[in-house]
Amino acid sequence: MSISKRGDKEARRQHRIQSKMAALGIPDFETPTACAERQQIMVARFGRRGAQPETVEGLGDCSADTCGMFECRDGCHYAARRLRHNLVPLAAEFFSKHKGPLWFVTIVHPEWSWPSTQPFDPERIREAHQWLAARLERLNIQGLLAMGAWEFVLIEEDDGSRVWAGHMHIIVAGASHAALTRALAIRTPKTVAAYIKPVVIKNVGNRGRQIGYCIMRFGERRIPYEGRNGRVNQNHLPLRTPEQHYFDQTLCSLNIGARVFWFEPRPRTIQKIAIYAV
Ligand SMILES: [Zn+2]
Repeated sequence: MSISKRGDKEARRQHRIQSKMAALGIPDFETPTACAERQQIMVARFGRRGAQPETVEGLGDCSADTCGMFECRDGCHYAARRLRHNLVPLAAEFFSKHKGPLWFVTIVHPEWSWPSTQPFDPERIREAHQWLAARLERLNIQGLLAMGAWEFVLIEEDDGSRVWAGHMHIIVAGASHAALTRALAIRTPKTVAAYIKPVVIKNVGNRGRQIGYCIMRFGERRIPYEGRNGRVNQNHLPLRTPEQHYFDQTLCSLNIGARVFWFEPRPRTIQKIAIYAV
């Protein structure tokens, strides 16, 4: 096959992926071109600021179709895109067949935060996954299904203190609102700012879009402020260069799929990416 024909075929395949994601409620799904730009910027930053060789290895050879290394990293923009366009349709199908009810749950556990200067410890992800799996198991509901991911953002307080806040976004099917509220209850210590609600349980709007949101790459800085109505809101800002470097390095130290949480009886493999049921 000539290079141009192969290129045409690949272009058609990518077009089909964008259409499929749009049909699932994600019309703004990241394109290979956007991934290329982000990957280039990230790799150049690693070059300037320095990174562990195993973090960077192969990243320059990744593409929309295949990666420079067999099992790429969570920080690779292409690998993350492939994971999303494989996992979102699959999860959407699972949830559409489930009798429900469906909930979109955000968990910001105070114990999942760490000071911004501290090196990242991958155990944090395992601990969060295990905590959540244990709470869901306690519900003892046959056919309970949950899917989502662990992620982290930078929280910047008035006094300048900064912490990385680990949290989970998941879709849960098969438990009532009341049962979930009880199962996921977290007692917050007095040191935790009063505005932080550790667990928020909401209705699911567009299923595909919300599943996509759960496993999105979302590095940002949040600055809490008091709104006119007295309620505390958060400003969402981009990370600064050293913070972005920390964020990207952390994701590139993880295998692709390492942040995904799938509460279901058996592990599955999606396009050579092992997703472990917890
Ligand atoms: Zn890659």
